[in-house]
Amino acid sequence: MISTTSKNSVDIDLSRVRGEIQALQPQLVEWRRRLHQRPELGFKEQITSAFVAQKLQEWGIKHQTGIAKTGIVATIEGKRNRGQGDKETRGQGEEFSIQNPKVLAIRADMDALPIQEENEVPYRSQHDGVMHACGHDGHTAIALATAYYLSQYRDDFAGTVKIIFQPAEEGPGGALPMIEAGVLKNPDVDAIIGLHLWNNLPLGTVGVRSGALMAAVELFNCTILGKGGHGAMPHQTVDSVVVAAQIVNALQTIVARNVDPLDSAVVTVGELHAGTAHNVIAATARLSGTVRYFNPKFEAYFGQRIEQIIAGICQSYGATYNFEYWQLYPPTINNAGMAELVRSQAAEVIETPVGIVPECQTMGGEDMSFFLQEVPGCYFFLGSANPDKDLAYPHHHPRFDFDETALGMGVEIFVRCVEKFFS
Ligand SMILES: [Zn+2]
Ligand SMILES: [Zn+2]
Repeated sequence: MISTTSKNSVDIDLSRVRGEIQALQPQLVEWRRRLHQRPELGFKEQITSAFVAQKLQEWGIKHQTGIAKTGIVATIEGKRNRGQGDKETRGQGEEFSIQNPKVLAIRADMDALPIQEENEVPYRSQHDGVMHACGHDGHTAIALATAYYLSQYRDDFAGTVKIIFQPAEEGPGGALPMIEAGVLKNPDVDAIIGLHLWNNLPLGTVGVRSGALMAAVELFNCTILGKGGHGAMPHQTVDSVVVAAQIVNALQTIVARNVDPLDSAVVTVGELHAGTAHNVIAATARLSGTVRYFNPKFEAYFGQRIEQIIAGICQSYGATYNFEYWQLYPPTINNAGMAELVRSQAAEVIETPVGIVPECQTMGGEDMSFFLQEVPGCYFFLGSANPDKDLAYPHHHPRFDFDETALGMGVEIFVRCVEKFFS
């Protein structure tokens, strides 16, 4: 345990935090725009990764590159626990306790999307068909500035901070390979925080809550195999279009009739392809869709229930089917203590508790969820929309952009969380 004596010996001047971070704002904007101009898709973040590594190198921050291809982990050791009697190591089987933390991780994703940018800004994407349309350029800049700040003020925190720069959040997912590569080990991470710039919330607000913040993401493909023929002679066929129509309707009953109304879930059929001509009965129909839910109890449920409905309908119409199901990301679930840490520090930064939005759940998904399955943590939304500046397009829109004022707020929340976490 950190002793009371050493705890009292640290006086963190939090008013200083804001001033120093405000001074970083021009660099934050510069780094973010530089990254925005050079967006890269998942696992191809070579330029991005090289830029991050170059900055860490410049600042003398210990880091490891090439984790899960383009991922980087920076390690910043606070100096406060050196020579002050706080050197004990964690015992075998010791439970996580916010009172006895050693290592806090901060996670940022770095990848862009296959979207052609339509913004006419000087820093618009220079890579054809690729765009930072989700704000991960901002996440990388915030994490870099946080690393820089913490490396300058090592005396202010009594533990180790690992900053995880992760590839491929938009798919196929960089969190899991980074965990498999050992980023949460050696030293072992006790807790993790991360943020998403969020245009669904206005600048000056923070969405943070205990429990599920974002949903599980699963997807399915199904091909219905009927028997084709003449549009005027349906009795000689098994019409895959009719079978597909029944399936699409029946799948709606899973959420409406099988899922507890107090649980939230979505089953969306996003694709339905069949047929070639008005007078030809289609032999095959192909549909695909996505499933979302918050409650981990559904982990084994939807794939099995969807196939059950498809099988039953196909059988009753004389068709057969191929079915594939993938579980991409689990639900993103925040630890209560860590959510409270973020909430309290965010409230300091935005200077009003009114700006804390607990009803900020979304059926969108995030592979931050894999980190949160391993260690307690909190993922939160940092409001970044500003309609007055025409910065309110939704994420993944070709005109997505955000109010860069949020960058400094993100750094300040991270820094305050670090200092509070180890205090
Ligand atoms: Zn996204
Ligand atoms: Zn995103």
